Amino acid sequence: MTKQVVIVGGGVIGLLTAFNLAAEVEQVVLCDRGELGQESSWAGGGIVSPLYPWRYSPAVTALAHWSQDFYPQLGERLFASTGVDPEVHTTGLYWLDLDDEAEALAWAEREGRPLSAVDISAAYDAVPVLGAGFHRAIYMAGVANVRNPRLVKSLKAALQAMPNVSIREHCEITGFSQDGGRITGVETVDGVIAGDRVVLTAGAWSGDLLRPLGLELPVEPVKGQMILFKCAEDFLPSMVLAKGRYAIPRRDGHILVGSTLEHAGYDKTPTAEALESLKASAIELLPALADATPVGHWAGLRPGSPEGIPYIGEVPGWEGLWLNCGHYRNGLVLAPASCQLFADLLLGREPIIDPRPYAPAGRLVRE
Ligand SMILES: Cc1cc2nc3c(=O)[nH]c(=O)nc-3n(C[C@H](O)[C@H](O)[C@H](O)COP(=O)(O)OP(=O)(O)OC[C@H]3O[C@@H](n4cnc5c(N)ncnc54)[C@H](O)[C@@H]3O)c2cc1C
Repeated sequence: MTKQVVIVGGGVIGLLTAFNLAAEVEQVVLCDRGELGQESSWAGGGIVSPLYPWRYSPAVTALAHWSQDFYPQLGERLFASTGVDPEVHTTGLYWLDLDDEAEALAWAEREGRPLSAVDISAAYDAVPVLGAGFHRAIYMAGVANVRNPRLVKSLKAALQAMPNVSIREHCEITGFSQDGGRITGVETVDGVIAGDRVVLTAGAWSGDLLRPLGLELPVEPVKGQMILFKCAEDFLPSMVLAKGRYAIPRRDGHILVGSTLEHAGYDKTPTAEALESLKASAIELLPALADATPVGHWAGLRPGSPEGIPYIGEVPGWEGLWLNCGHYRNGLVLAPASCQLFADLLLGREPIIDPRPYAPAGRLVRE
């Protein structure tokens, strides 16, 4: 039996990995160089769907579907056990004036998803605050958003209540300890933490950590900026998306508008240019926001990976080293399935879905 699992990185992926493993192994140590859940998993919008699900590979779709079905029960379970509600808010989502509407509808038909074309007047009836000038709409019922800062808070509270989980915040992992081809723990400035399994869930920073082992993991930071408004609770009844920009209503009337897609290394400084561009998108979608002042503006670093397909499984050639990273734009929606699949693989259980598309083997370049 696995005795001690050390998890490197406490975003939603590390948190949920720890949560799933805690009941099955003797000891879990979850390390983050900052505080848990304060990077991309805090910064994201929390739409429980890829933005354009039909544009992704079946590998992403399989994880997304499993997670979408699972989110409501995850939210209820965490709320019941911690008192912190992740607010899984089912609002549906309108896509407006899409170029690839036919592909979207064909995908929905194939996948059996509740997405259909609606008359634009029906969209305006359902979302009276929607800006003028849109001509076409498709709508998917049942799409939710999760209040991701609350999700990470409730996961942290759930882990704090588990006696065999040790949380180490402000604990930066600087390397791996090894014995021949076997990883035996992690190195920190305060010494080694031993583990018979080490799991890399360090989001956008995962590639840097693997490089000293001579492995090239194509995961890179992709900056995303977002702005926040506070409106009346019933201001926006559904999520809306046009020209790559979206508005997400939280239950209490906060409206998130995002997001930019920037290749700027590890810089996550919010910029005046993005603020203006996001405000313009907000006003185009919801003109009433012209009179409102954003109450927040921030940036986060997505763990960008080829085709957004995460790496889930053991690293070939390095026994004991496992990956669960590279979720790019969809880490919040994909987290429940990714972390369930991960636990299945590590524990040698029947996996929930075919694990092959996510296997690190063949997708890492050895220097
Ligand atoms: C603007 C924006 C909007 C988004 N919207 C959505 C959305 O609507 N839906 C969706 O599904 N996804 C969305 N995402 C993507 C989603 O946020 C990410 O895919 C997801 O949060 C990745 O989770 P993670 O745990 O892998 O990474 P992170 O949350 O970044 O966590 C990685 C952790 O590793 C830690 N770490 C790094 N290096 C070390 C080290 N050396 N030692 C110890 N700890 C370390 C970091 O401190 C960090 O806490 C969005 C992202 C952004 C930026």
